[in-house]
Amino acid sequence: MKGYQGKILRVDLSNRKITKIETKKYAEYVGGHGIGSAIFWDLCKDKTIDGFDPANVVTIMGSPISGTITPSGSGRCEVTGIGVQSYPIGWYTRSNFGGRFSGMMKYAGWDGIVIEGKADKPVWIDVRNSDVKIRDADGLWGLSTWEAQEEIWEVVNKSVTKDGWKALSSSRDAGFTTQKPAVLAIGQAGENLGRSACLIHDAGNGAGQGGFGGVWGSKNLKAISVIGTGSIETDDPNALIEARIAAKNNYAYNFDDPKVGWNRFSSSPTLGGFYDREEESRPQSCMGCIAGCRARTASGLGSESSCVETIFYADFNRRKFGKQTRDAYVATDLLQKYGINAYEAWRGLEYLEKLYKLGVLGPGKEIDCPLDFEQLGTAEFAEEFLRMTAFREGIGDDFAEGFVRAAERWGRLEEDWKTGILVYPYWGCPDHMYDPRAEIEWGYASIVGDRDMNQHDFNGLYWDPTKDILGGKQPYLSAEEVTKVIAEKLVPFENNPKMLDFSLENAYSEDMAKLVSWTQIYGRFWKNSVLFCDWRWPDLYNPNAPDNSGLTGDEGEPKFLNAIIGGNMTFSEGMETGRKIWNLDNAIYTLQGRHRDLVKFADYIYDIPYDGGLMGSYYLPGIENGEWKYIDTKGRKLDRDKFEEWKTKYYKLEGWDPETGWPTRSALKTLGLNHVADELEKRSLLGKE
Ligand code: SF4
Repeated sequence: MKGYQGKILRVDLSNRKITKIETKKYAEYVGGHGIGSAIFWDLCKDKTIDGFDPANVVTIMGSPISGTITPSGSGRCEVTGIGVQSYPIGWYTRSNFGGRFSGMMKYAGWDGIVIEGKADKPVWIDVRNSDVKIRDADGLWGLSTWEAQEEIWEVVNKSVTKDGWKALSSSRDAGFTTQKPAVLAIGQAGENLGRSACLIHDAGNGAGQGGFGGVWGSKNLKAISVIGTGSIETDDPNALIEARIAAKNNYAYNFDDPKVGWNRFSSSPTLGGFYDREEESRPQSCMGCIAGCRARTASGLGSESSCVETIFYADFNRRKFGKQTRDAYVATDLLQKYGINAYEAWRGLEYLEKLYKLGVLGPGKEIDCPLDFEQLGTAEFAEEFLRMTAFREGIGDDFAEGFVRAAERWGRLEEDWKTGILVYPYWGCPDHMYDPRAEIEWGYASIVGDRDMNQHDFNGLYWDPTKDILGGKQPYLSAEEVTKVIAEKLVPFENNPKMLDFSLENAYSEDMAKLVSWTQIYGRFWKNSVLFCDWRWPDLYNPNAPDNSGLTGDEGEPKFLNAIIGGNMTFSEGMETGRKIWNLDNAIYTLQGRHRDLVKFADYIYDIPYDGGLMGSYYLPGIENGEWKYIDTKGRKLDRDKFEEWKTKYYKLEGWDPETGWPTRSALKTLGLNHVADELEKRSLLGKE
C-alpha cells in the first residue's frame, strides 16, 4: 500500500494499552474522516453515549497525501468522535487542523491515532517512531497549549544529540532528525471540559469545532506528541512532482499578474490573514502547501493564526480605539493559548454585549456578570473574558458551556433565537458569516449535517461580486458565465447551472438539494478524507486558467492521490466514496437520535429578514425574471413549510426515508454498507423504502 505506513496507533487510556490496527482493513475509505468514521463505527459500541463518556472513540487521521508535496493538503489532519459542542445532541462530528502533525505522524510510521477510554490521571502520549509511551502529565496539566508544547519539545529534544542531530532513541537504527516533535495539545479550557475547547498544534493550528478539547480533557489527555525519521513511499514521485509544478504554474497565485480574489487555488497567500497588520510579516504555510495563507510576524504576536482567530476580537478592538491595535493580536494569542474556539468566543462576546446593552447583563443585573463592557476591545477585557471561560470562573462556567447552553441556563434561549440576538442558526453552533438566508447551501448542509459546515466551496460567488458591485465595478465574470464554468465541475450532477441559482424561488428546489449533496460528498471525501485543504479546494473557477476553469476534476485532486497510491481513481469514484462516508455518518446520527423533525434552524432564520452581513449586502448569482444576475439576498428570510418540503426532496435524492431522514437498506446496500443497515434494523431505525 503505497502512501500508507500500514498501521494505525490504538491507545486505550483506561488500561494504558497500546496496540495497532492494520490500515488495509479500512483502506477503501482512503484516509481521514472516512477511516475515522469506519473505525468509530466498529469500536464505539454504544453510539448514544455523551461525548464526555470514556467510551467515546476519537480518531486523529492523516491520509496518503499527508507529509508529501501535494499542494494545500499534505499538512491537514482530521479529528472525529462524538462532540460536545452541538445542541441539543452532541453529534458524532469532525474537526480539522493544519500544520505539520499529520506529516510527522506518517514519518513516525503511523497513518492515524485512535484514542479510547479515560486515563486515571492526566497523561500525554509520546510517539517517537514505533516507540510509544503513555507518560504522566502532572507537570503539564494547568499549562497553556503553548507552554505544554514547549515542555514536551524540551523533554523529547533531550534525546541523544550528535552534531546538532537528535536521535530518537539510543538504538543505532533509530534515525536522526533536526526537527522538533509535532504536538497537539489542549489548554486550560479543555482541562475544564469546555464545550468550546479546541485542540491546538504549534502556535495557531486549531481543531476548533466539536469541543474536542473538552473531550480530551474528559479523557485526562493533555497532549499527543509525534516525531519520526521515516519517509513515505510514493508510487510515482515524478508524476507527483510534475502535478505540483503544473498546478503551481497554471493555477496558483501569480505575483506578476494577480487576478481576482476569493477563487480558491489562485487566491493570494495572505487570504486567511484578515488582520490589518501594520507590522512586518511573512507568509507561513502548513507542511507542503504552496499557498502560505498564514503569517509569522515581526513582533511574534498573532503568528500562524488566520481567519476568524485573527478577527474574533478585531472589531471590538477597532470600535474601542478607532483602529486596530496590538490588543487584538494579544487577544488572538490568548485564545490559542487557552485553547478556545474563535467562533464561539466571537459570537458569544457579541451576544454578551447585546445583553449588556439591553440592560439584562452586567454587575448586579439579572445576569450577574463582572465584565466591564466599557473596556471591551482592550487586551485586559479579552484576558478576563477568556480566562473566565477557560477556568469556568463564576459566570464563565456558563460561557464554557457554549452560548446556546448559557442562554438556556439564563432562561433566554427561546426569546433570543426568536429575536436573532443569538446568532447560532444550526445545532447550537455559531454563525460563520455565511447566513442560511443568503448562502443557502452552507446553511442547509450544516443543518442536515452535524455542525457549522465550514466548507468554502462556493463563497467566491459571494465575496468577489459583492466587493465589485459595492465598489462600483463590474464583476470579473457575469453570473451566467461563472455558474456555467462551475456547473461543469459538479460531478455527478454536472452541467446544471440551476444548482447555483441562489434566488429565493430556487431555495427549495431539487437543484438546491443537489448542490447540498455535492458539497457534502465532495467534503466528506476530497477534503475530510483525502485531506485537501478547504482554503484552496475545490478549485472550481480560476482566472489564471485561459477558460477560467479550475483544477478540480480528473486532472486535479485524483492526479495527486493516484501519483502517491498508484491506480487510476477518477474524481467521480472519489465522490462515490464520499457518498458512502456521508451515508455512514447519517447512520451514526440516526443511532444518536436524529430524526427529520429535529432538523430545523433557529427561529430568526425564518422570522427576521437578513441584514446583509459583514458588507451590508450579500450578492449571489441567481435567476430573476428568466435572467441570470447577481441578486442581493439582503432582506430575505426562509419559509418554514417550504424548507420542510425541501428536506423531503433532499432525503429522496439521497435515497433516505423522507418521513424520518433515516438511511434505507437499498441506499446502504448499494454502497456496501449492509452491516450498517443490519444494525439500524436491529434498533428499528432503518428508513422505510
Ligand atoms: S492554504 Fe493555508 S491552511 Fe490550507 S494548507 Fe495551505 S497554509 Fe495550510
